[in-house]
Amino acid sequence: MPSFSGIEVTAQVDVDFEVFCGTCGAGLCNVSDTRESRNRRMPQVTVEACEKCMENAKDEGREEAEAEYEQQLSELRKELAEATAACHA
Ligand SMILES: [Zn+2]
Repeated sequence: MPSFSGIEVTAQVDVDFEVFCGTCGAGLCNVSDTRESRNRRMPQVTVEACEKCMENAKDEGREEAEAEYEQQLSELRKELAEATAACHA
């Protein structure tokens, strides 16, 4: 039987996929989009930062800042008490 070998076949497929936050597991499909790179024609996915994680990070930052502020405040109070005591000695 006559035959061809090594015939290249290109197939086009549509791919549906889901996107989740790797940190908290929240679904991110609504804030994800697809595009193609201009130069390399590579399929790309853009995802907005997870809102839940951003909010958590903000809270963590606020708590850290508050703890640091309390620490500095108590140090200043101590210094003030010492200075006052030295003044009245
Ligand atoms: Zn998240």
